[in-house]
Amino acid sequence: MGQPRSIIAGLVASILLSSLVLVDAVDAAAARKIARPRPKPSSAAKCEMPKFRIVVDVGHTPDSYGALSARNDPEFGFNFRLARLITAKLKSEGFAATRLLVTDGKARPSLFKRVGAANEGRADLFLSVHHDSVPDKLLETWEFDGAKSYFSDRFSGHSLFVSRQNPHFATSLMLARMIGWQLKQQGLHYASQYTLPVMGRYRRQLLDKDVGVYRYDGLVVLSRTRSAAVLLEAGSIINRDEEMEMNSPERHEAVAGAVAAAMREFCEKR
Ligand SMILES: [Zn+2]
Repeated sequence: MGQPRSIIAGLVASILLSSLVLVDAVDAAAARKIARPRPKPSSAAKCEMPKFRIVVDVGHTPDSYGALSARNDPEFGFNFRLARLITAKLKSEGFAATRLLVTDGKARPSLFKRVGAANEGRADLFLSVHHDSVPDKLLETWEFDGAKSYFSDRFSGHSLFVSRQNPHFATSLMLARMIGWQLKQQGLHYASQYTLPVMGRYRRQLLDKDVGVYRYDGLVVLSRTRSAAVLLEAGSIINRDEEMEMNSPERHEAVAGAVAAAMREFCEKR
């Protein structure tokens, strides 16, 4: 199985950051002309917990599963498990209208399906759950389970992304900051590498240096949603130690608890 696995790992390594699919320039121009999302004043203008519609989006699809972990597990599975727990936590804390969104199909069409589902469901907040990797050039090789595998222990931590193209940018940023602050209270640190030149085209502007909120304008799920939208990279699965942590009940609880605490704080301030 060494050869096929290494081929798969190689293929996946080449699309490691496919989670972060950009709207190209033509699409962006067309979007401004014909599909410019109109801000809805109702969205997040007030927050009644049982009615506040949070869509928890599972990043990627079973077919197009995102990054591959250091131990060759697909990102989609990590996203699904954590997003399901976040959804359950939010519901149990009073956000009864929270919904888990699982999308199928190929990567790019799935992004527009997600946005369509969130907009049709008149979401108040779209929270996309992902797990992080690194650019291909940073990958190192090791043997896991008898197969050549890829890892990078250089970076770790979570990160949060928001888009200035989102019609509720200020609310999105506020929510991302609140989630980031709660994650920090849990003793977790954010991934600071996105400001570094080594990140190349994945380099981002850091909007909040205390809690790790970055700006990512062109991301489809952040820019095309009519609701406030935040993307959470919950941790790095290409980092061999953090991959193990991302599978642990303690880390799941820390992240889900942080999101729920942030949402409560958001609603109390409205
Ligand atoms: Zn992803």
